[in-house]
Amino acid sequence: MRLFDTHAHYDDPKYDTEYPGGADRAITESRKAGVERIICAGTRPETNSSTLKLAEEYDYIYAAVGIHPSDIRFFDRKHDQTLLKKTEEQLAHPKVVAVGEIGLDYHYEETDRERQKFFFDSQMKIAATHSLPVVIHDREAHGDSFETVRRYPEVSGVFHCFSGSAEMSKQLVRLGYCISFGGTVTFKNAKEVKEVAATVPDDMFLIETDAPYLAPSPHRGKINLSAYLPLVVYALAEIRGTSPEAIAELTYENAMRVFKLR
Ligand SMILES: [Zn+2]
Repeated sequence: MRLFDTHAHYDDPKYDTEYPGGADRAITESRKAGVERIICAGTRPETNSSTLKLAEEYDYIYAAVGIHPSDIRFFDRKHDQTLLKKTEEQLAHPKVVAVGEIGLDYHYEETDRERQKFFFDSQMKIAATHSLPVVIHDREAHGDSFETVRRYPEVSGVFHCFSGSAEMSKQLVRLGYCISFGGTVTFKNAKEVKEVAATVPDDMFLIETDAPYLAPSPHRGKINLSAYLPLVVYALAEIRGTSPEAIAELTYENAMRVFKLR
């Protein structure tokens, strides 16, 4: 079984403090579990740089670079244009396969939604200019996320760790977006995401860990690793009434296509 983990953060400092051997060991362990390729996603210029460093170190690691909606709070508004410019420069790296992660996160009451929308929009434009797919983070912002991607029909990509409804997933698929599933499909009470996982077409879904976050059951609440990706595969196989091997192969091929790796 060969696996493609389409979303992880191995530059996260959690690996230094919570995992013996750190990110390097976590990455090498994933190979033993059959994970042949990993996309690491940056969230602001600093983490984009550390992600690119990992992509240089490991030939099977690729990078997405972008500005995450939750990370813009680290910067003063007067630097917004500079931040975008810096991100666009980082896209020139040969291991970059997508603009991401970008999007909207309305989980926290105090977030500046207009500023998040400005960054999301600007980066959709950047993706269009560079003909790159996007990796989208949509947390409790389904309406505005959909409304944004709909305005850029020339761009497509993936909604990572999808948490919307089956109806929304159908509309996204129609726009050419893949739906990506992670640890949440293994959770007992995740009724909605299981419904999405049961109905999304074969050629329109991907798998991911979002490591070090969102560890699948039975590791829920602990540090996540790409080596746990088979647990996501088993859950999807059960939900879709097929074999784990079929899920692994489908999602591997889908990822190769979406991120233009051949
Ligand atoms: Zn992420």
